[in-house]
Amino acid sequence: MPTPLRPAARLAPALVALVLGATLLPAAPAAARPAGDTLFPQQGNSGYQVRSYDVAMDYQPLTNRADATVQVRASARRTLDSFHLDFSGPRVTEVLVDGVAARHRRTGAHELVVTPDEPVRRGRFTVSVSWRGVPPEHTDADGSTEGWVRTADGAIALGEPVGAMTWLPSNNTPGDKARFHYEITVPTGYEVVANGDLVGREETAASTTWEWDARDPMATYLAMVAIGQFDVHESETTSIDGRTLPIWSFTDVTTGDAAKARAALPEIIAFGERLYGPYPFTSAGLVVDDARVGYALETQTRAFYPPGAATTSTVVHEVAHQWVGNAVTLTDWHDIWLAEGFAAYTEWLYDAEHGGPRPGERFQALYDRPASDDLWSPAPTRFTDPADLFGQPVYVRGAMTLHALRREVGDRDFFAVLRAWTTRHHDANVRTADLVRLAERVSGEELSGLFRDWLVHDGKPRGY
Ligand SMILES: [Zn+2]
Repeated sequence: MPTPLRPAARLAPALVALVLGATLLPAAPAAARPAGDTLFPQQGNSGYQVRSYDVAMDYQPLTNRADATVQVRASARRTLDSFHLDFSGPRVTEVLVDGVAARHRRTGAHELVVTPDEPVRRGRFTVSVSWRGVPPEHTDADGSTEGWVRTADGAIALGEPVGAMTWLPSNNTPGDKARFHYEITVPTGYEVVANGDLVGREETAASTTWEWDARDPMATYLAMVAIGQFDVHESETTSIDGRTLPIWSFTDVTTGDAAKARAALPEIIAFGERLYGPYPFTSAGLVVDDARVGYALETQTRAFYPPGAATTSTVVHEVAHQWVGNAVTLTDWHDIWLAEGFAAYTEWLYDAEHGGPRPGERFQALYDRPASDDLWSPAPTRFTDPADLFGQPVYVRGAMTLHALRREVGDRDFFAVLRAWTTRHHDANVRTADLVRLAERVSGEELSGLFRDWLVHDGKPRGY
């Protein structure tokens, strides 16, 4: 998600225990770490790991009502008498566990507690959740909107950080990536776009079923479904490793066709491949929809842009995320800089190759800002308020962190680190400590002090 579109509301830091430093500061007590995410401890469930989500949905654009069944294939880590899914969506009509009806109840803001007659044994199981109604939007701590977002002619599902639970009963934490498959039926004359590859479209006079398959593991926050009336643009490009990549772009019929951004996509993908290695997924594209949410989002394979937002720098940012954030995914939201700092620095590198300032000049101009500037606090991994998740330090100080690393280890080692990062952790989850270790191994230098200066200590880092 790019900075300029997202309002970064600032609230007074809450006095809550910070455990993030544990990733960098070995002295922090392990017992202080909650079982779940450190920023959203109520999200996600540790008793199982999801393998795939199969979403079957009938949707009515005029009323925004849907009738859906989501089949979740998972692996239990231990015997489960009952288990939770994150879900804040409409009325649940049925829950099946391995094909047998199970008791279920809603608790808290977004827990669906499922209790099968027989406990789920360790190993694979399937839970199928049916729901019916109008899925809600979700308002974030910074005031922005996500979840099932209504548009003039349908809706778009946008999930960063937690909005997927408005329509997808899920283990809603980036640490649990899974395959996604969608079969969505709409009145004929409407289009459906989602993540992955378009693998089927069955049309009758009354309705059309669109089938999308995202076979590469994906975090729930990157899931996207857009339904409405779109112009559909199909093309292809060739990846650096010789694969033909289909490009499906869907642009709302009322917003313009984003022709410049669509034309630039192959070159921007090629730029990303030179930095990070082969494009990590099987298809690409973009979605422009009339959701007035104030941000673009790197939804996997096919980023979303509100009207007018698909500028070159924003497209570079969202395409960069396909490697950094989507294929290589943070485990804990406090490590969001691993997505945003990298994507922002990719913009710096792209700009420098296209007549813009050199990264060193940008770094210096930012570093010259006074110590009182908002850029310096909270440090990128030290925020305590979810409203700071998409704040300036995460993006800009995050990008500066990478440039400080580059100056320390030199260009050759720095670009080797970038490439090794995306190669080694492809389709996996990471923490900041993984990057520190990798950079130290590649460079042979002790770098924990540099990363602490830039990521952990509030205030302007001294001596750079
Ligand atoms: Zn971003």
